[in-house]
Amino acid sequence: MTTPPRVHFDPAGGIEVERGLLWLDAKQPKALGVITHAHGDHVGRHRRIVCTPATAAFVRKRTGHKAEYVEREFGEPFVVGDLTVTLHRAGHILGAAMVKVCGPGGSVLYSGDFKMTAGVTTLPAEPPRADHLVMEATFGLPEYRFPDDDGTRAALITFAQQALRADETPVFLGYALGKGQEIAALLSQAGVPCAVHPAIWNLCPTYRAHGVKFPGAVTLKRNPRDRCAVVVTPRLLRTPEVQQRGPLKLAVISGWAGRLDKVKADAVFGLSDHADYDQLVTLVERVAPQRIDVLHGYADEFAADLRMRGYDAHAVAGHRGPRPGETPGMFRGLRSKPQPKPDPQDGVE
Ligand SMILES: [Zn+2]
Repeated sequence: MTTPPRVHFDPAGGIEVERGLLWLDAKQPKALGVITHAHGDHVGRHRRIVCTPATAAFVRKRTGHKAEYVEREFGEPFVVGDLTVTLHRAGHILGAAMVKVCGPGGSVLYSGDFKMTAGVTTLPAEPPRADHLVMEATFGLPEYRFPDDDGTRAALITFAQQALRADETPVFLGYALGKGQEIAALLSQAGVPCAVHPAIWNLCPTYRAHGVKFPGAVTLKRNPRDRCAVVVTPRLLRTPEVQQRGPLKLAVISGWAGRLDKVKADAVFGLSDHADYDQLVTLVERVAPQRIDVLHGYADEFAADLRMRGYDAHAVAGHRGPRPGETPGMFRGLRSKPQPKPDPQDGVE
């Protein structure tokens, strides 16, 4: 019988390890916090921050927070007390990590947000084995089995090319860190000319520093001379830089594609930077844990599925996905003729 490091799930957000020796993705400031990736709902203003170099670059740029950044490459250990912390590739977005904490009696792995297959800007997750697994279940219902990503990417490129041939502007919505760069890299590497809103473009230098190319892509400006594809966040769709490029052909790219029937878009592509249902199960099989705690999304439903499969799995209270008929938060502003909405929390799809 193993005794992994003890974890406590803080209702304010984050995971406390060994009575506060270390925190994972805490939102409140802590003395020592690991940040799995730079989406806003995972970032706290800690005194010491353990994360990958890419995540450190994003957090600095997005928050300006001055801290002691302890940058660790994947697999490179960080020791605190009698715990050894290692980061492991999580897919999801550039720099995203799973966190493994090993103590004298066992190990715990926190998945953070993850994806088991490669994107244009990310490599697949590489989860290690662990005794206790704490995982997300954003898409933890069997109805969320995404179509093959390569086919979806090809359809997305075709949509852009057809719109440009018809002298229309294809507009792709993606949040400012992750999805936006993924779309821009996909289009530009396929030879589709594209203009990228500064909210997304400003984070591209970190991608370039990690080898991601955006050939021919430019920052989005007013008064365009040539028609090209546009990549923008949902909140910024109504800005003049986009609207003056009409006629527009609007494409939404999201794992929530099946829940977006009320959204006014010309196309919805089911491409996510999260694991789908089958990938969630794959993670569990690869980690082979003795105990599983499930957070985020369909935690209750997915934990129940895992118990049916013979695992000792539990849902962490207070986490749920959209109910039937509910449009996921970041897309609610697109259901009708728009009023500007508050900036949706990125990283929710
Ligand atoms: Zn995320």
